[in-house]
Amino acid sequence: MEGRVIKSTGSWYVVKCDQKYISARLKGKFKQSELKLTNPIAVGDWVTLDLEQNQETAVISDIHPRENYVIRKSTRKQHFSHIIASNLDQAILVITMKNPRTSMGFIDRFLVSTESFRIPAILVVNKTDLLDGPKAEEWLQDIHEIYEPLGYQVLEVSALQEDDLHEKFQTLLQDKSTLIAGHSGVGKSTLLNKLVPDAEQSTKEISSFSDKGVHTTTFAELFSLSYGGDLIDTPGIKEFGILDVEDVELSHYFPEMRNYLGQCKYNNCQHLHEPGCVVREKVEAGYIHPYRYHSYLNILNEEDSHR
Ligand code: GDP
Ligand code: ZN
Repeated sequence: MEGRVIKSTGSWYVVKCDQKYISARLKGKFKQSELKLTNPIAVGDWVTLDLEQNQETAVISDIHPRENYVIRKSTRKQHFSHIIASNLDQAILVITMKNPRTSMGFIDRFLVSTESFRIPAILVVNKTDLLDGPKAEEWLQDIHEIYEPLGYQVLEVSALQEDDLHEKFQTLLQDKSTLIAGHSGVGKSTLLNKLVPDAEQSTKEISSFSDKGVHTTTFAELFSLSYGGDLIDTPGIKEFGILDVEDVELSHYFPEMRNYLGQCKYNNCQHLHEPGCVVREKVEAGYIHPYRYHSYLNILNEEDSHR
């Protein structure tokens, strides 16, 4: 049998096969990939599994190769990484201007991550009902003007007030696997519950038959959408790892800088103070937004301090 892992607790997994949910585990030692992982199997993985004699539980015997994945490096155990989710078509970052405010720096870190994982990203601005006045307008306009030309779709919603979100998101989500992330408090759960009305319930059902009093600290969970496709929620995950990005590589993950790479005088230009730097010229000429260049510098500095 084949199925997709929709939930993981580290010791057992919930696998969706056709329309059935099966509680599965790994048998013995499992072949490790080239990555040093804290979890051999992640939410989103396609697996082969064999039903046990009771016909209710199963053993996972194989993981199909992952098309892509998002990963987080453990800061304590630097050598180990945790796959948050795999086989994704796109990723949504939910952002808000107020209660809480999502900083541009945070958005840009997220986008660098998704670029490095080669996963298209979409920004969903939530709590638009709270936006009024010139400051809010300016913020919203900045978000559109900065990110849309770079190829990132920007959607505005009020998860609290809009009741047709399921239809509103259909074109975007249908038949795709979409990861959804955001700072806590931005309204991700509110949005998720409108897109997958039975999300809470299905989690409870699955927990009751498999969870033997274990306090589950799940990293991600996959919910099926009624029109096909699914949403992968990432509770408690603020950032993905971009620690593996080398300094000279960082600008590859800024689409507006990517165009000019190879034009700087020095091959290994970090676009700081080097003479003949085309990226800096483009910042000064207004082709690259100063906020984005600022984020670039910040990430470069942060990455240095981790080494
Ligand atoms: P999460 O931590 O991202 O999952 O956020 P929640 O969904 O728990 O929402 C956090 C708070 O924001 C709750 O009090 C929600 O009612 C509120 N909230 C969510 N969406 C909206 C919205 O569109 N507008 C307003 N005003 N509040 C919202
Ligand atoms: Zn340069």
